[in-house]
Amino acid sequence: NRRFLLARRPQGSPVPEDFHLEAEDIPAVPAGGIVVRNHYASLDPAQRGWMDDAESYMPPIPLGDPVRATTVGVVHASDNPDFPVGQWIMGLNALEDYSVAMPGGFTMPIDVDAVASPSNYLSALGAVGLTAYFGLSEVAKPQPGETLLVSGAAGAVGSAVGQIGKIMGCRVVGIAGGADKCRRLIEDYGFDAAIDYKDKDHDALVAAITEAAPGGVNVVFENVGGPVLEAEVFTLAHHARIVLCGLIAEYNSPEKLGLRNLWQVLARRATIHGFLIADYADRFAEGGAQMAQWLSEGKLRADEDVQHGLENAYPAFMRLFSGANTGKLVLKIA
Ligand code: NDP
Repeated sequence: NRRFLLARRPQGSPVPEDFHLEAEDIPAVPAGGIVVRNHYASLDPAQRGWMDDAESYMPPIPLGDPVRATTVGVVHASDNPDFPVGQWIMGLNALEDYSVAMPGGFTMPIDVDAVASPSNYLSALGAVGLTAYFGLSEVAKPQPGETLLVSGAAGAVGSAVGQIGKIMGCRVVGIAGGADKCRRLIEDYGFDAAIDYKDKDHDALVAAITEAAPGGVNVVFENVGGPVLEAEVFTLAHHARIVLCGLIAEYNSPEKLGLRNLWQVLARRATIHGFLIADYADRFAEGGAQMAQWLSEGKLRADEDVQHGLENAYPAFMRLFSGANTGKLVLKIA
């Protein structure tokens, strides 16, 4: 059982020495529990936050523990009749070949015959798709004809948000890094306009958003924070809603970046709404069914960036921060 351990807390950007791959025996089944053979693990920006010793919505990963991750896998050994050997499950486990899990909580059975790949339960049908769906439909509540601005738009959450925004009748503008990602926003995901933030300073970014959203931005779906958010607030329509979903620009930053132009939020009577997908856990079945329907109807495209091998967990994880990932970043373990 290989396990990708957090050896020390990263200072700024993680380095290989912050992690350690060790091998030990496959764990025994606990009373009432299961042992899962993990096949795919989700690599998420949130894991960077869990590596810090900081107050958050979840406790930090203890040093010496494997890096916490959502996985999909097969029950390898069981002492629970509801989770027989051979059953596919998804759950909050770790970057390791085998995980011990106690059914209940986040561990749930999944139907892999209904999907193209079990990894779909980590992308469109998992937390990423549900984050886009509930963040938009329940928090932002966009109205047809409104302008939706999405940052991190070519990523897993952002690309789903933009496509759902189109389904809901919005004009959708995306911000992403580089010409190729901007092309994909338009051609692959159906955005109305795409803006490359990497080749623009503050004023140029404000100008580009203003040009793409002449009537002002009604909804911001924020995945990035930092300088991108500081430009966005100058483009808000009155009573705009900002769904604060993520702040990846500052996850590796020793000092948090904050929002210098907060006055614009006040002057434009806008709302900033912090959002966590975990709060919608009792509605995952409903959201998953809607996402599955849109996927099967061809209304939604969900790309996955599948990397291979626990031994590559570090370089794979860092793709999130270099922007190398093209779609939901997943590590194939088995
Ligand atoms: P993505 O697939 O979007 O990958 C991360 C992307 O972020 C990169 O490809 C890169 O794209 C961009 N990025 C990285 N560093 C920076 C930076 N310094 N400045 C600007 N952009 C950067 O990841 P996810 O879709 O999984 O996650 C997107 C966001 O959603 C994250 O902030 C995450 O924490 C958040 N999230 C929040 C949840 C919640 O419940 N609130 C649940 C799930 C995710 P580019 O090339 O365009 O720079």
